Amino acid sequence: MECWEVTEKICSFLDGELDQDDSGVLERHLTICPSCKYELESIKKLNSLLIVLPSMRVASQFARGVVKRILSEEVRQYNFIDWWKSLTLKWKVAAYTTALIGLLIGGSLAKFSLGPPISSFDTTAMMWFNDEVSIAKSYNIALIAGDR
Ligand SMILES: [Zn+2]
Repeated sequence: MECWEVTEKICSFLDGELDQDDSGVLERHLTICPSCKYELESIKKLNSLLIVLPSMRVASQFARGVVKRILSEEVRQYNFIDWWKSLTLKWKVAAYTTALIGLLIGGSLAKFSLGPPISSFDTTAMMWFNDEVSIAKSYNIALIAGDR
């Protein structure tokens, strides 16, 4: 396996989505390639940072609005996929992180600007927010997989 293949498959590897053969080949490559090993450790560190970020509740209309906007952007800016494919994994991770942080900041701003206190947000809002993050994550993974 070459470095570019590892780069393409590294997220699937971390998510346990590679079959046994691919995982074995990738693991062997990691033992001989410091660059890919570094890449793997960087993504692991990033994942651990994302996991410890506090979860927050947002208004249900916020999450719906974000999903709606993502879907409309997808239709309107179909060249986004070409642009995304041209990015290296580091830039994809950076873009993903930036989007997630933007989402979290947007969530806190919405919390303060929309008026209702946190306690009035229902659990449905949180479920919508989690769904949106899952959609964004799946979308990201699908785009990486689409690079082949
Ligand atoms: Zn390598």
